[in-house]
Amino acid sequence: MIKVTLGLMLGFAAAATTEQPRGQLAFEHVSIVDLATGSVLPDMLVVVDAGRIASITDAKAAGAQPGATVVDATGKYMIPGLWDMHVHITDRSYLPQFVAHGVTGVRDMGGGLSRPTDGCESVEPVTLQAWRAEVERGELVGPRILLSGPVVSGTGWRTSLSARTPEEAVTAVASLEALRMDFVKVYEKISLESYLALAKAAKASGMVIAGHVPVETVGLLDAIHAGQRSIEHIRDPLLMCFTAEKDELSLFFAQDGWSEADVKWGWLAHAQCPDILSAVSNHAVWFTPTLVVEHAKVAVEDPRWAEKRLQSWLPRSVRDAHAEYARDKRAQMPEERASEHRWWEAQKKMVGRLMQSGASLLAGTDSACEGGLPGEDLHSELELLVEAGLTPRQALAAATLEPARYFESGDERGLITAGARADLVLLDGNPLEDISNTRRIHGVVRLGQWLDSSRLAALRDTKAQLPVEP
Ligand SMILES: [Zn+2]
Repeated sequence: MIKVTLGLMLGFAAAATTEQPRGQLAFEHVSIVDLATGSVLPDMLVVVDAGRIASITDAKAAGAQPGATVVDATGKYMIPGLWDMHVHITDRSYLPQFVAHGVTGVRDMGGGLSRPTDGCESVEPVTLQAWRAEVERGELVGPRILLSGPVVSGTGWRTSLSARTPEEAVTAVASLEALRMDFVKVYEKISLESYLALAKAAKASGMVIAGHVPVETVGLLDAIHAGQRSIEHIRDPLLMCFTAEKDELSLFFAQDGWSEADVKWGWLAHAQCPDILSAVSNHAVWFTPTLVVEHAKVAVEDPRWAEKRLQSWLPRSVRDAHAEYARDKRAQMPEERASEHRWWEAQKKMVGRLMQSGASLLAGTDSACEGGLPGEDLHSELELLVEAGLTPRQALAAATLEPARYFESGDERGLITAGARADLVLLDGNPLEDISNTRRIHGVVRLGQWLDSSRLAALRDTKAQLPVEP
């Protein structure tokens, strides 16, 4: 059940671009990475016309492509454009960065109603909609963008829509509809009664709900049964499922210095795990672990980590927030640092366990929150998913096939097939052999336009496009 406007928005591939005439593109001798089978189809000819894949044929049998821009793709691997399913767009400069890194679709998880932001909140919806329109008109290189707008929360947080009562929850959904948002981002501290009213109102409006689970009041099983479409981050109650071994969990509590009350809560959460893990495999629910944000808690120890972020092209307010994050983490006591490492190891184990349980995962980065780098982080997320136990094919699916399944849109297939929208990435290496090969981007097709390596390099070079500081 995806909102009608999503279907309309997904239709924007047909919009004309001003930057380059939209002739046919012919990729000759390309190896297609088929994520449905996990195989590579060598020496193919892929023809793109008017933003769609017109045909896929054996390159040996194909004739000349008169009038088409021909790309010799010998030795190159073609994958569908990647989705980052959890971002916070703080600045217009993010959009070309995503595409330069092969990210041709993003789900913005919203939050902000003002600027500047620390990177964990997107800017106000009207601005995001204006940038999205620029992309659609071909005036700005950028990904497809799905928007949640302000989060719906019971926290009383100033930039959120309030859902402290069922009535407020219904009003919040109406507000998001009026803002023409694509889905509802649910946040925390919402009573079960209000949460269920929110889920019902969203469903009636044809919007999915996605986001955090207000775990104190709602619980993961309640959320799954109420139809929450995606659950963001591996947070405490789910994290308690990282192991089935009671001894391991006891050790975890002890080493982490949990209080008696905390341990009691932890065992309760752990007791629910078998039910949760069986529910995830037979419900239409996706998990977005955002491992890259969790990894930042330990990666911050590497001085190069902070240096890279401070010297990045990000807006000053975001760079300042990243610097503060690094300072805070480094100022932690040794036992706190040890605890961060244990949490990180538990996160990875939990993601591996989710995958084994038949859960559906989405690749998301929370960029540019807590040290995030828009675009680049998606590749780190894919690598971390593999480190957590996914195969490269499963990790790639989390950024292609699984988003397509999540959207339930025939238009978004996450596969290279005739008739599919042609948001494509051409790689210099086989990502099924080494997931890091997704970083070796030779070119990108976005809105039917071929962006070759020199064009991508120009997009990445942000010196000329540094954000205007407010
Ligand atoms: Zn977020």
